[in-house]
Amino acid sequence: MTDNETPRADGLGAFEERAPDLAALYQALDTLECALSTTMRSAATSEELLDRLKEASARAAARAAEPEAPEQPAAAAEGPAAPPRDAAAAAAPSAAAASAPPPETAGAELEALRARVLSCAACGLAAGRQRAVFGQGVSRPVVLVVGEGPGAEEDRQGLPFVGASGQLLDKMLASIGLSRGANCYIANIVKCRPPNNREPAPGERAACLPYLKEQIRLLAPRAILCAGRTAAQTLLGTTEGINRLRTRAHALEGIPLVATFHPSALLRDETLKRPAWEDLKRLRDLLAAGAGAAGAGTAEEKGAAAGTRPAPEAGAPADA
Ligand code: SF4
Repeated sequence: MTDNETPRADGLGAFEERAPDLAALYQALDTLECALSTTMRSAATSEELLDRLKEASARAAARAAEPEAPEQPAAAAEGPAAPPRDAAAAAAPSAAAASAPPPETAGAELEALRARVLSCAACGLAAGRQRAVFGQGVSRPVVLVVGEGPGAEEDRQGLPFVGASGQLLDKMLASIGLSRGANCYIANIVKCRPPNNREPAPGERAACLPYLKEQIRLLAPRAILCAGRTAAQTLLGTTEGINRLRTRAHALEGIPLVATFHPSALLRDETLKRPAWEDLKRLRDLLAAGAGAAGAGTAEEKGAAAGTRPAPEAGAPADA
């Protein structure tokens, strides 16, 4: 209605003005009623109907939460496609970040720690190394990736996760909007290469672990991603296999922790790429939900640490 028109005394003017809107509303209600009756007819039981409604609700919630992030079938298999979104933007600061030293101080402390590692001889691995591999990434990362130890190429370059498995790790991280250049830090359980790429011995891990613990304190990541069984077992202090560890939620010092397969395991066994992608999605969702904001000891964190996810599916591959 324009300013020059006279309002109808019977009130029908307002109704007529909104008639197109109401018509659209009635049409939408008709469509909804039709969809509901179709669903009810095709649902064999009330439980089935409930399940369908829950699925539809979950899909709608997922679409609303990440409209620009279509699900990828397998991160590692798909290669370095454009990140669906920046997980860093959605993640909330962790309790560890709140108690961490400020970035300027932390940077200096991190460099001092690096110097100590480069000259460390606290275990027998020092004798065979070319270079100790301290770590690489940003000083206040969203995610700290922890691997087992340096391989031959890492030992040569003094950097973590280089070579084929490093490239695959970079692709995996990129698939959820992460990278060591922008919002991640990558380190290992042991900083020196075990001979013949053997698994680091318990004594070697124990000798080196304080360095990683100090890195975690200084970096204050919002989440930790353990790449492989050795990293997960060492940080969580357990002997459980990776197939069980990766299916449960964990927390370390108030920081959410996700375990997955080591990229080198994915290179050996293609069938692990699908479950690894599921792990990455769990990490992405955890960051998006701001799970890092859960303070140590909160009910939310305790629930995460207790782990509620189901056991691995039958026929899951051997530990990697
Ligand atoms: S592996 Fe760790 S504890 Fe052992 S010598 Fe290297 S830096 Fe030191």
